[in-house]
Amino acid sequence: MNIHEYQAKQLLARFGVSVPPGEAVGTPDEARAVAKRLLADGHARVVVKAQIHAGGRGKGTFKTGLQGGVRVCASADEVLERAQAMLGQVLVTRQTGPEGRVVGKLLIEAGVRILREYYCAVLLDRAAGCPVVMVSTEGGMEIEEVAARTPERIVREWVNPTLGLQPFQARKLAVALGCQGDLIRAGEKLLLGVYRAWWECDASLVELNPLALVEGPAGRPTLLALDGKVGLDDNGLFRHPDLQALRDLAEEAPLEVEASHHGLNYIKLDGSIACLVNGAGLAMATMDLIQHCGGQPANFLDVGGGASVEQVTAAFQIIMKDPNVRAILVNIFGGIMDCDVIATGIVQAVKDTNLKLPLVVRLEGNNVRAGKQRLKDSGLPILSGDSMADAARTAVRVAA
Ligand code: ADP
Ligand code: MG
Repeated sequence: MNIHEYQAKQLLARFGVSVPPGEAVGTPDEARAVAKRLLADGHARVVVKAQIHAGGRGKGTFKTGLQGGVRVCASADEVLERAQAMLGQVLVTRQTGPEGRVVGKLLIEAGVRILREYYCAVLLDRAAGCPVVMVSTEGGMEIEEVAARTPERIVREWVNPTLGLQPFQARKLAVALGCQGDLIRAGEKLLLGVYRAWWECDASLVELNPLALVEGPAGRPTLLALDGKVGLDDNGLFRHPDLQALRDLAEEAPLEVEASHHGLNYIKLDGSIACLVNGAGLAMATMDLIQHCGGQPANFLDVGGGASVEQVTAAFQIIMKDPNVRAILVNIFGGIMDCDVIATGIVQAVKDTNLKLPLVVRLEGNNVRAGKQRLKDSGLPILSGDSMADAARTAVRVAA
């Protein structure tokens, strides 16, 4: 699950990470009110930032032609004007795809004088089997580009998960960013906070791009998180009801949201062959086979270990809402489940949903004979696949 920048900044602030003062708003009037407060507090500039679950907003373009989802303004009226032009409009960035995202909220925050832009991230290094904290002096740009062109400018510290990020490691990273004197301590505190936020929230990613060196009070340079991206591990969310509350369904694909209500793990793709599979590994293999046989999967759909009538019905209903689907491939391995029970569920779901799309079913495992017989006896035009490859070939054929 991803959260918005303003939520990420609130979260980071709880762990002692400095962020610019600001507030999220949903209307232009609120935007002006917050801007007035910030200007009255002595900030010379106010920044209007579109809140969508995608980066590259600064260089993005609205479908109205307006440039930039991040805008520095000098007055409350300018903020009002910008807010009016951004709210409710579709912003297209390098990360949104051409369809873009509707901007429903804005972060109105103090504009700071940036001296340097750095990069900082905490994530899991799967190859090393431990967390890694990465920093780079090349902030503000896409880190993939830095990694490809100047990999030596990315500095990493691997973290022993039992001990957590150690102060000496955080200081090393701060020094790698060029910090000197008091800034080393400030960098240490900030990095320890970022790491703790990542660890304690069960995050998969915390990224500050940029982590900025800015002109602080009395002209002294200070470090601030100017952008914040936090990705949370869905499997750890049950431990964090407060974080669950940050979910923004408007940012998620509608069919995927509906699927999650039924305990289905569904991801929409662009192909024409829908698949319904029990188990994520089998689902991946099924998608591979569809591709191998010349087709394109319309989705990833894992119904979990079982496949109840309710789940299969919900899955068919979701699949039927995708206008690209030309055929459905059901691939169920009855390991613990009884294939006959699954077949009963499939037959019931086909009837309940009045399914008209060609349906190919491959059943294997526990009590498979009875299951196949039940499909046959139903009188429904269900195509049976004897093997996975056979089922995939049939699905590709009928879809064409
Ligand atoms: P994105 O990565 O989606 O483009 P950012 O939050 O990184 O959005 O903002 C883009 C750029 O705008 C930053 O690299 C920074 O230069 C500038 N910026 C962002 N927030 C502020 C701020 N509060 N004050 C001054 N400049 C800012
Ligand atoms: Mg950014």
